[in-house]
Amino acid sequence: MSLRNLSDQRLIEDTKMWNEKEELCTRQFLRHINEVNRRRLFCDDKTGSLFKYIRKNFNKSDSETSRRILAAKTLRHVPSADKALANKQVTLTNLAEVGSLVGDIKSNKKKNEILEKIKGKTQTQTRELVEEITGKKRATRSKSLCHSDGSIRIHLTLKGQTANDYQFLKEQLSNKGIYKPEELIGHTINLVAESIRKKIMGIGSRKTKVMTNSRTISAAIKKAVITRSGNKCENCRSKYNLHFDHIIPYSISKSSTIGNVRQLCSNCNARAAIMALSQEKMDLYINQG
Ligand SMILES: [Zn+2]
Repeated sequence: MSLRNLSDQRLIEDTKMWNEKEELCTRQFLRHINEVNRRRLFCDDKTGSLFKYIRKNFNKSDSETSRRILAAKTLRHVPSADKALANKQVTLTNLAEVGSLVGDIKSNKKKNEILEKIKGKTQTQTRELVEEITGKKRATRSKSLCHSDGSIRIHLTLKGQTANDYQFLKEQLSNKGIYKPEELIGHTINLVAESIRKKIMGIGSRKTKVMTNSRTISAAIKKAVITRSGNKCENCRSKYNLHFDHIIPYSISKSSTIGNVRQLCSNCNARAAIMALSQEKMDLYINQG
């Protein structure tokens, strides 16, 4: 039916009704993504994160997705926020602004105090409140910080010794034509990351014995698994927060061979544990706070 035929009064009433429905749907959507997150269900979709899962499946922009994930986080940490949202005392944006903050606070009393303080506040006022509590000014982010192809744009200001070191590296490498200036920082990040990775995994250390019947996964097996995985999660291909995981739990298989070890990101690792053990058991470890 064309809206042009509606009476003025009916048009106003209907607009109000659809707004009510939209708000109800948003609250339900937040509750549902919290449960999807609790079960790490997005790992079954091989998207690797709740953010990518929502972007892929629900036609939302990066900022719409971030806002909903952060607001849902507030609902998880401050259950009374759902009622405040239903009563129009807070907005989705308010709740998103305090999402990271309430996740770090242990005391329920303090979390509820923050909720009280943001009631009726604008986004700017809420952001100022967060800055006041944390003592940190939030960096103004460039709108396209993370691109859909996985690249990240950063703005850096180097000071003091770091600026001197940069000049030194530029002279040594870039000016001699080894690296282009724009590749220099990327190369430095790669080098540092590689060295940290080696430290974490013990690769390159003297103790590279092949131990396949130990719960501890040997450095040699880890190295072989990394070669197979390309140092990515073997379920969703994420490059972040990677862990080594026994495919058949060590307690049953007593095996740490390459066939029983895989690399998983923390989310896929959690999802695998939920499926192997139980949601209730894993809630004690992965969904605390
Ligand atoms: Zn994964």
